[in-house]
Amino acid sequence: MTEREALLERLADDFSEGGIRHRRRAQFRRTARWQVAIWMAEALHRLGDIVLSSLLFILLSPLFLAVLVLSKLSGGGLQTSPRRGRWATQFGRYEFHFPSDSRLAWLKTFRNWPSLLNVLRGDMSFIGPRAIALDESVGDERTAWKRYNLRPGLRSLWWLRKRANIGYTREIDLDLEYVETSSIRGDFGIAARALPVMLFGGGASMAPPKLKFLGVTINNLTMSEASAQIVAMSMVRPASQIAFVNADCVNIAFSDEAYKSVLAQSQLVLADGIGVRLAGTILNQNVRENINGTDMLPFLCASAEAAGAGMYLLGGRSGIPEAAAEWIVQRYPRLKIAGCRHGYFSAEEEPGVIQAVADSGANIVLIAFGAPRQEKWIAEHKHELGAGAVIGVGGLLDFYSGRISRAPVWIRELGMEWLYRFWQEPRRMWRRYFVGNAVFLYRVVLERIHAKDSSRVGGVTP
Ligand code: UDP
Repeated sequence: MTEREALLERLADDFSEGGIRHRRRAQFRRTARWQVAIWMAEALHRLGDIVLSSLLFILLSPLFLAVLVLSKLSGGGLQTSPRRGRWATQFGRYEFHFPSDSRLAWLKTFRNWPSLLNVLRGDMSFIGPRAIALDESVGDERTAWKRYNLRPGLRSLWWLRKRANIGYTREIDLDLEYVETSSIRGDFGIAARALPVMLFGGGASMAPPKLKFLGVTINNLTMSEASAQIVAMSMVRPASQIAFVNADCVNIAFSDEAYKSVLAQSQLVLADGIGVRLAGTILNQNVRENINGTDMLPFLCASAEAAGAGMYLLGGRSGIPEAAAEWIVQRYPRLKIAGCRHGYFSAEEEPGVIQAVADSGANIVLIAFGAPRQEKWIAEHKHELGAGAVIGVGGLLDFYSGRISRAPVWIRELGMEWLYRFWQEPRRMWRRYFVGNAVFLYRVVLERIHAKDSSRVGGVTP
């Protein structure tokens, strides 16, 4: 039999009535197996919820009763608030109520505990998108269809990112990301990361417009506010200087008066990293969002692209700014990269470098020489560059060129990016992180003690 005849025979077999019936059955079995696997995963998830919520309920019942009695005594009690759950159905979320004028209002920390009952009943799960109020919208029908696919959770991915000060995207986008990638393992991961944040995370208390400590003043903005302000600055002259300040920078400013005064004269100083956030918590000046150059770049590029602002990248080793520019161009094709140059040039070459930036017509210039050198250089030359916004970005170009990898997002959620950086370059970073961070926190605590003392002295006035 020739090859052609064999093929024809096989085709005839496949398309015979028996062949078609056989393939349909196989297809049906495959679909059924998938369906059973999905049901099993759901059942397992639900079983986990039931077992864990019952256990917690039993363990916490003495506390539960105590809080219930206290809330009753203060004129509140156990109440339900209407929420939307899975498939957009309505349910009552259990919570303790404390009248706000009550002396027991501090017990509000326990307000959501009774929601464990909702988990037991199947209205909610431990991890999932937030249970929203009836009048809240979750976007168009397609989005809502996806968003309501899962039971709402006591804690959500968005809650975690917000608490870690890295919740830069909209809640609905994170909800959809969660719905699309949800798994039992992933939920355990979120729960494990949420626990330390719940125990040690800063509360959402006072967030002043400016943070002031150890002689440095920081603009307390969110990521989207900061990138919008920078793009607005990029369109006007004289040039504005923008700096990111982390714990290491505050340490440098402590002993480097010139750097400190450059920061004081900068138009925008932004709070970068867990160290500054911790200082804010200790000094009762909460940091609204962690704003570092690396996380900001995508937001800045999107705003600059929309506004038609061109960008110049100056700094890093040879080839690094070019590679970072390629990353930008691939994602923001309409953003004009006005030029690139590495950051290793002599004093004789400097005027030529400055002229090249000015000739490029860039509105925004990113300078990556490392702190504090870049900040001092910007202060000296910003008016010669012809741009509106000049930003000191440190190792940013190294990250986007791919020379140094960025910590995975779960490490950032835990506020542990510094540990990851140390692990990458231990010889260079050990002093900065282990000695520097300890010195920084010591100084912050001293400032707190000092502030308390002086407020007490101030309070003595008759
Ligand atoms: N750099 C430069 N010219 C120099 C010295 C350093 O362009 O004369 C670059 C260096 O290649 C690196 C960046 O400056 O890309 C400094 O990065 P680092 O991570 O030290 O900055 P940080 O974020 O810590 O301020």
